[in-house]
Amino acid sequence: MSVIDLRRLTGVARQQALRIVLIGPPGAGKGTQAATLKERYGLAHVSTGDMLREEVRRQSPLGSQARALMAAGKLVPDALILDMMAQRLQQPDVSRGFLLDGFPRSRAQGEALVAMLAAQKQPLHTVVQLDLQDEEIVRRLSLRRSCPACGRVYHLHSNPPTLHGLCDADGSALVHREDDNEVTIRTRLSVFHEQTEPVIEFFRSIGLLRRVDASLPIDHVEHLVERLIQGALTKSSPLRTSRRLAVSKYRSLGRSLRG
Ligand SMILES: [Zn+2]
Repeated sequence: MSVIDLRRLTGVARQQALRIVLIGPPGAGKGTQAATLKERYGLAHVSTGDMLREEVRRQSPLGSQARALMAAGKLVPDALILDMMAQRLQQPDVSRGFLLDGFPRSRAQGEALVAMLAAQKQPLHTVVQLDLQDEEIVRRLSLRRSCPACGRVYHLHSNPPTLHGLCDADGSALVHREDDNEVTIRTRLSVFHEQTEPVIEFFRSIGLLRRVDASLPIDHVEHLVERLIQGALTKSSPLRTSRRLAVSKYRSLGRSLRG
């Protein structure tokens, strides 16, 4: 059997490391897409919340600093988060790439991230934005039900359980979560827009942003995301030029941010 055949069989052909950021409002299906990508590409799914908790739990020097700040009711500063991120992205489970979720949360973080990855010669391939109108999000979330036992999420229209009101996996009674009510959703959305618009604008300005219409059916969205990623991984991608520009432009900004 040739090497090519073996690769095809084992999926080795996909081993080029993939580095992406996934952006999307609550209810746009970010969790579903993240899970698919994680599995398909063997990516480490990195979220700032998990990362912070893990550092605090391990009582690492950075974790201890963060804990002291949080205990004093202070925000963990960008520079500290970025130091953690830099370490996190060196860990063995990141060898095939990563998917950042919930980070960057500000333009400054975005600039610093791009600069950091450039310094590590591990630039981002693409930033995928799952785009969905607020009205559609409210509609979706209010029809969402979740399983208190296994966490599986259903949707009464687009993804209903086989048996009404019961989890397919374990038969538990599904619940409508308190934070899926309309007032809470609208508050979360306005916070999301306020924080994320500048980040989206930043990634657009350096040519990395790719928008996907998240109102389409899940498998269609998945297909579009896959196409974007394949495009970004292709060497002839026009992203390479803009990425280089972005790198030189933001390297100094990153430095000044980190003082
Ligand atoms: Zn369940």
